[in-house]
Amino acid sequence: MTPSQTSTTPIQYLPGVGPKRAEALATVGIDTVDDLLHYYPRRYLDRTTVKSIHDVKKNDETTIVGTVEVCGERQMRKRKLFQAVLSDGTGMITLVWFNGVKYIKNAVNKGDRLAVHGKVEFYNGFQIVHPDFDKLDSDADPINTGTIIPLYPLTAELKKVRIDHRSFRRIIKENEEVFSIIKDHFEDRVLNEQKLIPLNIALQHIHFPESRENLLVAMERLKFDEHFFLQLLMALRKKSYDKIGTNALTKSGVQVQQIEDELGFELTDAQQKVIQEIRSDIAQPKAMNRLLQGDVGSGKTIVAILVAAAAVANGVQVAIMAPTEILAHQHYESFKKQLNKVHISCALLVGKQKAAERKQILEAIKDGKINVVIGTHALIQKDVEFKNLGFVVVDEQHRFGVVQRGILLQKGLHPHLLAMTATPIPRTMAITYHGDMDLSIIDEMPKNRKPVITKIVKEDRLQNVYNFIRDEVQAGRQCMVVYPLVEETEKSDLAAASEGFEALQITFKGIKIGLIHGRMKKDDKDAIMDAYSKNEINILVSTTVIEVGIDIPNASVMLIEHAERFGLTQLHQLRGRVGRGIAKSYCILVERNIRDTSRKRLAIMEKTNDGFIIADEDLKMRGPGKFFSTEQSGFFKHKIADMVTDGIIIRKAREVAQTIAKADTKLENHPHMKERLLQDYAQYLETVVIS
Ligand code: ADP
Ligand code: MG
Repeated sequence: MTPSQTSTTPIQYLPGVGPKRAEALATVGIDTVDDLLHYYPRRYLDRTTVKSIHDVKKNDETTIVGTVEVCGERQMRKRKLFQAVLSDGTGMITLVWFNGVKYIKNAVNKGDRLAVHGKVEFYNGFQIVHPDFDKLDSDADPINTGTIIPLYPLTAELKKVRIDHRSFRRIIKENEEVFSIIKDHFEDRVLNEQKLIPLNIALQHIHFPESRENLLVAMERLKFDEHFFLQLLMALRKKSYDKIGTNALTKSGVQVQQIEDELGFELTDAQQKVIQEIRSDIAQPKAMNRLLQGDVGSGKTIVAILVAAAAVANGVQVAIMAPTEILAHQHYESFKKQLNKVHISCALLVGKQKAAERKQILEAIKDGKINVVIGTHALIQKDVEFKNLGFVVVDEQHRFGVVQRGILLQKGLHPHLLAMTATPIPRTMAITYHGDMDLSIIDEMPKNRKPVITKIVKEDRLQNVYNFIRDEVQAGRQCMVVYPLVEETEKSDLAAASEGFEALQITFKGIKIGLIHGRMKKDDKDAIMDAYSKNEINILVSTTVIEVGIDIPNASVMLIEHAERFGLTQLHQLRGRVGRGIAKSYCILVERNIRDTSRKRLAIMEKTNDGFIIADEDLKMRGPGKFFSTEQSGFFKHKIADMVTDGIIIRKAREVAQTIAKADTKLENHPHMKERLLQDYAQYLETVVIS
């Protein structure tokens, strides 16, 4: 290591690496010295994490370190398995592999020192099936020596060139000087204020922890960094949006008042508050960038209608984009009903319209004859041109990518943007993922609402449920029955719903039942939805197409088949389809495949109607990845950070990021920070000028 080397020096030139190993390291994203230092161990073995075999209990999720006493292949009735007996001086435990026997046979040998991790089961003695295992040095003994052993994420590529846990430590140790070339991106003042240790020390501790304590402060520092850069990205993005000038829509418009007067219900205080927030935002000569969050049924549509009317009163066009055709149709009906009264023209633009019809609509949009266009992805096609698009609404915005939203916005000259979502994302996620937006929250339901009563039922009680549904229908109300996606293929999804439909037709003789699914023709779908909204269909059987948005106030029972297969937020969305009218409403979760975890999950649905609580639980159980589309989740580059448990760190990191973004918008005084930000998030910085 010569002093001229920097953190961007290719890894290949470090002593102990060379071209072959560099190639393997590249497969796990390690190209430079910096990448190597930020390749953190995934687990540590020490007294606090390793258990003595003597102390393990059935069902423990545990880590054990021991030596292989005997091992070998065994022929069971049909297949081979591999067993190894591990001892640590306090006891013995059997490790079992049913799969990959050929590979394990080579990997595990008598006398090997192993760290194994897995769930302890009891079958003729304690055993762990398919443990996660790491080979250790023959003298590794974290329990008795008090040492801490880092375990790195190893892949087949790394193992092929004989890179193991020890290799990482050895390569880093041999190049120890690199720690001294790391420049901290925080000033000492920030470190002191936030009680953080310097970056180079944190990296040293993460690879060579001397005690549990210094490992923890190192983790804290590195977690802080990961959250910080994401928060900085968002703060800079927000700053740059704030600079985009556009038309100030200041006129209040008599139409808005007129619509409101004729609604037939009072807006809730929360609805009035968010309308105010939006209207004062669009009255500024800079583009609004606002997220409207409100639980299912909280009444976001009418908010969008009223602010759309206000925008039109200022002479601009409005576009509303919805994720599904059914939802676009329904919005079209709602908007038309309110807006036609005050002579604002609306049009619907969806994928499957006839060419002639589409052409006519496109011309009217281009001429400015249409004031408000409601549509699906069809809105972002190339041939859609506006005369004067000044306001964009994206409904269920988490269903769209940033790119799609951007294309729609580019059809106007910096239009104001209102994104709406009914997915109450956990707060830590909201301030991270939506950190570049202003937030309006509808935290109140219309007063006439009664909370939906939720019950989990097993198959054997279904007859009672059906009787109950029959009573509801006889009382004039309606019901929905939803079937889940089965094994990911739409065909079987459809098959399940169709089968259910056939069976229910027999069960409910004399009652009108309809079937709707994603692969029906648009006209057929419309006809079914139309009939259902007029109560000409009493029970609607469906696949999950009805998940988002649709609004049938007369529906009072939602029955969800195989409820255990749904995520909590999805169940909450589905449940939100009922309880929109005056009647008492019910959500029945049919559980067919009972497991501890699904029971626990579904019980949360019984307990609460609060979307935020449900979202938090969902985050805890499924992790952040499931909340967003792949494109969106690629954005969380966290290696050590944790959206579930780092709430306090996230808030602190956000504060620091905002202060820096405010004082040094182009990061001119923070060159190292800028370098790292560009390295990690360049593609998310297109709209932000920092270089
Ligand atoms: P979401 O927020 O889930 O999109 P919607 O906008 O579809 O909810 O509203 C659900 C239902 O509540 C609609 O039938 C709507 O007309 C009605 N609604 C909206 N606001 C109120 C209110 N303030 N009082 C009574 N009903 C309302
Ligand atoms: Mg809605």
